[in-house]
Amino acid sequence: MAITPSSPPDSHANLSPAWYQYRADETLARLHSRETGLTALEAEDRLARYGRNSLPAAPRKPAWLRFLLHFNDVLIYILLAAAVVTGVMGHWVDTAVILAVAVINTLIGYLQESSAERSLQGIRAMLSSRARVMRQGRVQAIEADELVPGDIVQLRPGDKVPADLRLIAAHNLRADEAILTGESITAEKTCTPIQGERGIGDRSNMLFSGTMVSAGSAAGVVVATGQATELGRINQMMGEAKAQRTPLLQQMDRLGKGILGLILLMMAFLFLFAFILRDMPLGELLLALISLAMASVPEGLPAIISIILSLGVQAMARNHAIIRKLPTVETLGAMTVVCSDKTGTLTRNEMTVNAVILADSQWRVSGDSYAPQGEIVHETSGRPASLTQDTALSAFLTAAHLCNDSQLAQDPAGDWSITGGPTEGAMKVLAAKAGVTHATARLVDKIPFDSAYKYMATHHQLGDEHRIFLTGAPDVLFSLCECQLTDAGVVPFEREFWAREMARYARQGLRMLAAASKPATPDAAPLDHADLHQGMVFLGIAGMMDPPRPEAVDAIATCRQAGIRVKMITGDHPETAMAIGAMLGIGDGTTAITGAELETMSDEALAGAAQRYDIFARTSPAHKLRLVRALQQRGEVVGMTGDGVNDAPALKQADVGIAMGIKGTEVTQEAADMVLTDDNFATLAQAVKAGRRVYDNLRKTILFIMPTNLAQGLLIVIAILAGALIPLTPIQILWMNMATSVTLSFGLAFEPAEPDLMQRRPRDPRRHVIDLHGIWRIGFVGTLIACAAFLLEAWLQPRGYAPEFIRTVLLQMLVTAQWAYMLNCRTLQGFALNRKVFANRALWVVSGILLLLQLAILYLPFMNTLFGTVPLPPTWWGVTLLAGVGIFLIVELEKWLLGRIKKPVSPAAEPTGDRS
Ligand code: ATP
Repeated sequence: MAITPSSPPDSHANLSPAWYQYRADETLARLHSRETGLTALEAEDRLARYGRNSLPAAPRKPAWLRFLLHFNDVLIYILLAAAVVTGVMGHWVDTAVILAVAVINTLIGYLQESSAERSLQGIRAMLSSRARVMRQGRVQAIEADELVPGDIVQLRPGDKVPADLRLIAAHNLRADEAILTGESITAEKTCTPIQGERGIGDRSNMLFSGTMVSAGSAAGVVVATGQATELGRINQMMGEAKAQRTPLLQQMDRLGKGILGLILLMMAFLFLFAFILRDMPLGELLLALISLAMASVPEGLPAIISIILSLGVQAMARNHAIIRKLPTVETLGAMTVVCSDKTGTLTRNEMTVNAVILADSQWRVSGDSYAPQGEIVHETSGRPASLTQDTALSAFLTAAHLCNDSQLAQDPAGDWSITGGPTEGAMKVLAAKAGVTHATARLVDKIPFDSAYKYMATHHQLGDEHRIFLTGAPDVLFSLCECQLTDAGVVPFEREFWAREMARYARQGLRMLAAASKPATPDAAPLDHADLHQGMVFLGIAGMMDPPRPEAVDAIATCRQAGIRVKMITGDHPETAMAIGAMLGIGDGTTAITGAELETMSDEALAGAAQRYDIFARTSPAHKLRLVRALQQRGEVVGMTGDGVNDAPALKQADVGIAMGIKGTEVTQEAADMVLTDDNFATLAQAVKAGRRVYDNLRKTILFIMPTNLAQGLLIVIAILAGALIPLTPIQILWMNMATSVTLSFGLAFEPAEPDLMQRRPRDPRRHVIDLHGIWRIGFVGTLIACAAFLLEAWLQPRGYAPEFIRTVLLQMLVTAQWAYMLNCRTLQGFALNRKVFANRALWVVSGILLLLQLAILYLPFMNTLFGTVPLPPTWWGVTLLAGVGIFLIVELEKWLLGRIKKPVSPAAEPTGDRS
């Protein structure tokens, strides 16, 4: 809700947008707020008064329309045609059942879609926006929809602006406002009040809800929330996700259409054949043909595929991997290379400074937590540091303390924590260990850290003195400094010395951060990058440890086994990167390539280097995009992780763009295909495994369902050609395809991962889900079941059994064969009745349900009437079970023989070197 500038915040009158005309302090006063933020009580009160900071959901198609849309489906057309034919022939019971099935099927489709949507929405809600606000003098992260007018919000690059804000602090701030203004160039923002009326695009001291911070940092006071924001006013809905078809679903759609075409041709041929040559009565023939159409279309398959996919997505979400785009579930299993950030993903992102290197002394630092407890001692003499005596060290620590956005805080339990980035946090802790405070220092301006230029700078007033402090990657600072500070004063910069020292520490895996400073003039204009190009005095380098995550080591090994090559992309020094890489098992510990080297390469050379090297150091986000493209050009399926706003293009380009949930910015998350909510590389390896399992189970399900359909179709074709009794009625076929097949498929949906899942090579994404082996399997099993059923029919028919009895026996036999074949399908290669057969409880639950279903259709009188079945004497259970066992054994034999003929599936070779 907006508040008028001229009225207290509780007034609803006259919505005026003129906040930009007021000074920042005036704005705060009129909103009854202050720089330290609202109190909890004020916030609660305002939330109750103005409501949540959210926009109403986008209008959806009405439920009845979404229900009706499900009638637009080939299966339903076939069912409706069948209903018409049976109706015309006066088979009213059949007509009613078929129509009921059509409606039930539509209903299932509708309910399934709604529940899939709900669960995806639920998963998306796990990524709901959070905002950093200052309340009661403390920075806190809260849900963005809890923001109220008067809240002080802090923003950094990549943040989505959560409400309309009047800026109260802005440093080199730029915002992307294309969503509101259509302007593709980012807008520069300051705090200066503006005179006169201005349009949205010119209100340079405001940030608007839904726009993005593209550079710099800011703090602003909330002036409007929810629908009262500019975004709410134009009521533009954002981020509405469209339903997506995965590649596998698309393949199945195309396959379904192909099958249908074939069936129609076949029906035309059979119609002519049977009508002219066999003299079959028209009604009977039409029913047979409709049975054929129904038999050939796997009615239950689409539902079961989407259920398996959504079960997979939910399981992944529980394990910290949130799939934002459904096709990613499949792409994960095809990924051949994953490029990962180092800091936080492969390492813990808990930094502690271990060493300080100055021009004429080196210092060791003890203590390994954020608690400011530990000693700074001289490396060789072991003498504790003294701020008054060691002036160069003191100057370095002052820069570490002031050129820093983080804060050190102690909770009531006495535990220390930092707010802001761990790199800066580690520097803050270092300064605190030495007792550096500078309580009266005043920040005049700053350039926030950005991994594109790899430094941050501040302009501070310390008493009467003004200074510029600079911290950043040592090699970047080397090129900015002409002098260095020694205990004896300022002397010319000795580049070789520093480069040597830096490499020495970097080889221990230490992350290096240098500091520099120079005097500034009090009336300095806003701090600019150009101000850092002259007169900077190099102070020294801090070496900090960010230990590798132990679980990442295992995850990397798992990926290698699974044929996925892991590459590390980092902004750190090459020596640091190689040392950490060696601890993690990435690269050989002696080769790395830097961003600068990549820059000079042609696209061709880059593609070669991208494959050859595993460690990319001193990179900036722009290199990531080139690397992804280069790898893709070499046929790799690339996963790329990222967190900063500049990583978004690379994530979009990657086959699997992976954003970080904790460290990642919203822009990056929106560009990503999946988000790791714990920022952990190990989660990625888990997600690959889950993705492979989902694909495996989908394939198993497809290879399970399709042969049944083929068998039914073949059986009918054979019967028509042989002039025998049509063995299955349309509604019996429906029973098999809708009730028994779908029930049994659930057994496979819950099938645990096969043991060699992560030893296989990544799947070739171009390969059809039904490859040659699949076609063979479907053909073989389909024919086998059809022949077995036809033999049984051929034995029964001349012996005078009633048609209903023969059909019932055949139905029972086909269902038993389905059940037996489902067991076969548990594993695509090995013997199906392994020990794990009891691990998958779903398998036994569905078997029990199947038994109940069959008992119902065979022995309940009304089911007998509906489905044209008769109660089956127990002997026939035995006969059909025998047939099922026979089929099971033959398929196992086929698997075994094929396994021997095909060369044994070798574990994925260690992915080393060039593999183009
Ligand atoms: P990743 O490994 O995930 O790419 P990174 O931290 O190694 O992350 P960057 O964040 O680009 O990569 O950092 C590159 C270098 O910039 C670091 O080695 C460090 O020297 C310097 N640096 C990092 N953070 C800061 C900061 N907040 N202020 C100043 N310098 C920093």
